[in-house]
Amino acid sequence: MTMTGANSLSISQKAHTQAELAELGGQMQRHVYIETMGCQMNVYDTERMQEALASAGYVPTSEVERADLAIVNTCSVRDKVEHKVTSLLGVWKKLKEFNPDLVLGMAGCVAQQEGQKLLDKLPHLDLVVGPDQIAQLPSLVEARRAHNQRQSATAFVNRRDYAFPEPVAPNDGRVTSMVTVMKGCNKVCSFCIVPFTRGREVSKPAADVVREVQLLVEAGVREVTLLGQNVNSYGKDRETEVDFAVLIHQVAAIDGLERIRFTTSHPMDCTDSLIEAFATCKKLMPFFHLPIQSGSPKVLAAMRRHHGVDDYLEKVDKLRRLAPHVALSTDLIVGFPGETLEDFELTMQLLGRVRYATLYSFMYSSRPGTRAAELNDDVPLAEKKRRLQQLQAVQDQITAEWMADFHGREVDVLFEGPSRLHEAGPQSKLSQVRESRGLQVMGRTPQNLKVNVAVETPEQLTALAGRLGRVQIDLVGQNSLGGKLV
Ligand code: SF4
Repeated sequence: MTMTGANSLSISQKAHTQAELAELGGQMQRHVYIETMGCQMNVYDTERMQEALASAGYVPTSEVERADLAIVNTCSVRDKVEHKVTSLLGVWKKLKEFNPDLVLGMAGCVAQQEGQKLLDKLPHLDLVVGPDQIAQLPSLVEARRAHNQRQSATAFVNRRDYAFPEPVAPNDGRVTSMVTVMKGCNKVCSFCIVPFTRGREVSKPAADVVREVQLLVEAGVREVTLLGQNVNSYGKDRETEVDFAVLIHQVAAIDGLERIRFTTSHPMDCTDSLIEAFATCKKLMPFFHLPIQSGSPKVLAAMRRHHGVDDYLEKVDKLRRLAPHVALSTDLIVGFPGETLEDFELTMQLLGRVRYATLYSFMYSSRPGTRAAELNDDVPLAEKKRRLQQLQAVQDQITAEWMADFHGREVDVLFEGPSRLHEAGPQSKLSQVRESRGLQVMGRTPQNLKVNVAVETPEQLTALAGRLGRVQIDLVGQNSLGGKLV
């Protein structure tokens, strides 16, 4: 392990604190609160942090006021999130007045990008940990407590030496789980900070992915989402590795696993065999998130996406020929430097042509360290907002039409457990829905739409978890469906 900053632990200190940690684990329980921002990669990293900290006696809490350790797992893809992180830490700083033992940490992309600078800037921050250093988290926390040294560990592990954490069987009754199949990205799109915060691509060996999914299935998981910044290029960093389509088929061969999803993709690496997998692999769910970012070839070139609009549409058309049931979603950025009204109009035309089921759309904001940050950010903020609103209004209509089409249909639903309606406080709008609809179990359609289904007894709420059921849709909401068991 390489650590940055002046307060790195020596080998002997580390051995000492590991022993202390083991003792601590046996004697007392501490609480960790993790606030997760950004993408599913961060959600996955949060789980890895919780697993690493469990060995040191930390159990997760959903209340930061109860925490002995509070970590914000950050994202630096959007400007807004960085502002949110700073204000969140300002709030947590006040908690230290009541609990001086509280350790405050920052993880994720902002931590990776800024490292030691964050400790210089934020005196109440105790530690900074990058994605490659998650395994060191217990030692870092203990060093902060035992030696009163603030810690920063943000070194990348050389891709040849990188070892994915050993999988841990979950015991929380989950039905769905993420499985990271690779880390990093080699693409260097001009607006994106990920290659600088996550490093180069490293694929997890296929045999390890299969072993991990088997472990999850034995623990009751029925659906896995294979995760990476660009899963389409899975295996390219290892000469002897299979490609992503073959990996999907290998995972699909596992008995007891019902569903496979994956995210996220780069169109350039989307192969014919991956598209064909949607037609040939029954366990691969019909939902494909294929980010395009802009409908203008000129803007795509400035984004350094290394594909155009026509070749993207060829892939979409091939998918729709082979697997017409597959719903598509995408990412779009409006107001990229140099985006004219004509460019924006091409993006609007793309929406009408592809008719995505859902869309993740953002206003461009410059990220320091990226190539796009050197360009003239020439679309005024008000114009970016206007374009975003126009885009989202059209997409909302398309999404509403897509969802309305489910009304009256029978769909296969994988049930996950009690609906979120049951967590709603007495004053919330959701509680009114709960009052009117009674007990509800939540599941998802193959296209990843949430479905709430009425059940008669509280026992059914949990008994259905992990089971597939046929549901007739009789209610279409803005973001979810409702129905009855057939
Ligand atoms: S493919 Fe581009 S946008 Fe996606 S993570 Fe890699 S660099 Fe970022």
